[in-house]
Amino acid sequence: MIKLHDKQFEPYLSEEQIQDAVKKVAAEVARDYKDKVPIFVGVLNGAFMFVADFLKHYPHPCEVTFVKLSSYRGLTSTGIVRNLLDVSENIEGRSIIILEDIIDTGRTLQELIHLFSNTNIKDFKIASLFYKSEVYNGEYAIDYFGLEIPNKFIVGYGLDYLELGRNLKEVYQLKENPMINLVLFGKPGAGKGTQAEFLKEKYSLIHISTGDVFRRNIKNGTELGNLAKSYMDQGELVPDEVTINMLRDEVEQNPEASGFIFDGFPRTTAQAEALDNLLESKGMKINATVALEAEDEILLQRLLERGKTSGRSDDQDESKIRNRFVEYNQKTAPLKEFYSAQEKFHSVNGVGEIQEIAERLVQVIDSLSTE
Ligand code: AMP
Repeated sequence: MIKLHDKQFEPYLSEEQIQDAVKKVAAEVARDYKDKVPIFVGVLNGAFMFVADFLKHYPHPCEVTFVKLSSYRGLTSTGIVRNLLDVSENIEGRSIIILEDIIDTGRTLQELIHLFSNTNIKDFKIASLFYKSEVYNGEYAIDYFGLEIPNKFIVGYGLDYLELGRNLKEVYQLKENPMINLVLFGKPGAGKGTQAEFLKEKYSLIHISTGDVFRRNIKNGTELGNLAKSYMDQGELVPDEVTINMLRDEVEQNPEASGFIFDGFPRTTAQAEALDNLLESKGMKINATVALEAEDEILLQRLLERGKTSGRSDDQDESKIRNRFVEYNQKTAPLKEFYSAQEKFHSVNGVGEIQEIAERLVQVIDSLSTE
């Protein structure tokens, strides 16, 4: 594993695999051009290593020159291709073979084709060491390539991440952080919201609190809000169907998320099953359910305290709070079995300083295997 700037990269292609690919391209081009004297045009900066090794394996007479184009800034192609260096040699009537390190979207290639389309060259071919066929959307069929590779960000052997990594002999690929999806579990007042705020920062997760989403809807007077209000006012659960649909919308609004904290969801077995199905359909899963545990009397005091400032009517009335505990015991507590059966249930002592409890949660999360 290596680190370039802020990102980790893991080994992807060995020196030998790369050299085999270079030899393959050189042999194919040599077979077709043995009776001509082609001009190889290396595309800077990325192709300099490929060009050097390619030429060592090219056995026939040839010339070499370079152009400089650039479309990557950081990890994603910007779409802006600039031509910084022109081919100055007299290329009229000659066979041109472009040597590229990698073809991905094909934008750079299009610029090259454009560059040579106004000239009187005899013929024009493309030879690329790497080819991301999945993302290539150009019309020009690539003439020669060494290796077809999946759409991963790679560095090394001439390719860079923000200018670093070009000098590596091997090729590395970006290590993507595995997704973490957590369910924060616990009775009202257990500190789920407080801890979720901390965890979402630490692990770059999206925090979905179903209670917050309902309250936002009530405030905005939406149909969903009006529907939920009567249940929430009594400390009862909103019907599953409504809650599940809302949750699905929240997840789907964040397709780029590196993970979610589900806070206040699921609260029934039906919701837990719906969540599993939803995540599975997206190639995701729950990694862990972490329960913040505290006794009812402590929670009651916390909620009444919160009720003085939160403006939540369900926090201001002891009987409503007790009803929320009853709902929890009847409908939500069975989820402990549900997640234990999946070996995902973790219990954390929810009494103590906020920071202290946060550290307990981090300990659990960092011990998860996220394969
Ligand atoms: P909370 O903010 O998590 O304490 O939730 C406040 C209220 O919102 C609950 O008492 C329920 O009425 C409603 N609610 C929140 N999440 C759910 C859920 N997953 N299922 C049903 N009702 C919910």
